[in-house]
Amino acid sequence: MSVLLSVRGVSVTIEAATLVDDVDLDVRAGEVLALVGPNGAGKSTLLGVLAGDRVPSSGSVTWGGVELAATGVAELARRRAVLLQETRVSFPFRVVDVVRMGRAPWRGTAREDDDDAVVARALVTADVLDLAARRVPTLSGGEKARTAFARVLAQEPVLLLLDEPTAALDVRHQEHLLAQARERARAGDAVVVVLHDLSLAAAYADRVAILDGGRIAGVGAPADVLDPEVLGRVYRHPVDVLPHPLTGELLVLPRRQPRRPVLEDVR
Ligand code: ADP
Ligand code: MG
Repeated sequence: MSVLLSVRGVSVTIEAATLVDDVDLDVRAGEVLALVGPNGAGKSTLLGVLAGDRVPSSGSVTWGGVELAATGVAELARRRAVLLQETRVSFPFRVVDVVRMGRAPWRGTAREDDDDAVVARALVTADVLDLAARRVPTLSGGEKARTAFARVLAQEPVLLLLDEPTAALDVRHQEHLLAQARERARAGDAVVVVLHDLSLAAAYADRVAILDGGRIAGVGAPADVLDPEVLGRVYRHPVDVLPHPLTGELLVLPRRQPRRPVLEDVR
């Protein structure tokens, strides 16, 4: 699988704080790469670096051998789409307007002719067709997230950067969104997705990168990387990694204290 983005020795520092610390990582076409790690590990910062939105303090990020920093914003917008962890759409755009904004990078190119068909397809794929005429500020968190995903799809990037796209979604939409992300990878695109649910990462990612304190604590196939000892240390909470009793797929479960009986039950 061809390497789309190559990250070498990348650090991001802000004053005394090191947000990303000497990271090496390849993003490959045809692959879903899950970025996991505790709150504050640097996942969103690293995603910003991959997007070219954040210039690293040191190290290099290259796309086809060319420094990402040397690539213009218009060209970047035709290559990669970003679903931000929090999107604040305060202006009362309709859902269809927001999705149509994804087409902006293709304005004035031959691909502009596809706009209507691509937008229609994105609305269906992200399951927001029924919401197309709704004003974004009136949507639920999950509906907003699906709208943001539709905009990413409408942009037709070869690199999809998704920051916690499933955080607000119900079970069906979580599975559906990640299945669509897999579908993009199958079609040859590269997908980098920040996830908190490690079972979801195991189920949908080709590779998982664990970030801890800005550093890569492990990267590789889910079965190789999702190790209970590593995860317990990184998350500072014990976890079990088990095969699903019916399907054999990996489940990552936080260890829990047994519930103490309430006093009434004891009496
Ligand atoms: P994640 O997405 O993994 O939760 P982030 O990449 O958003 O983490 O942030 C990494 C760390 O950097 C966090 O501890 C955050 O508080 C810190 N951080 C973010 N922005 C700044 C800043 N401007 N100055 C100092 N620390 C920052
Ligand atoms: Mg984040």
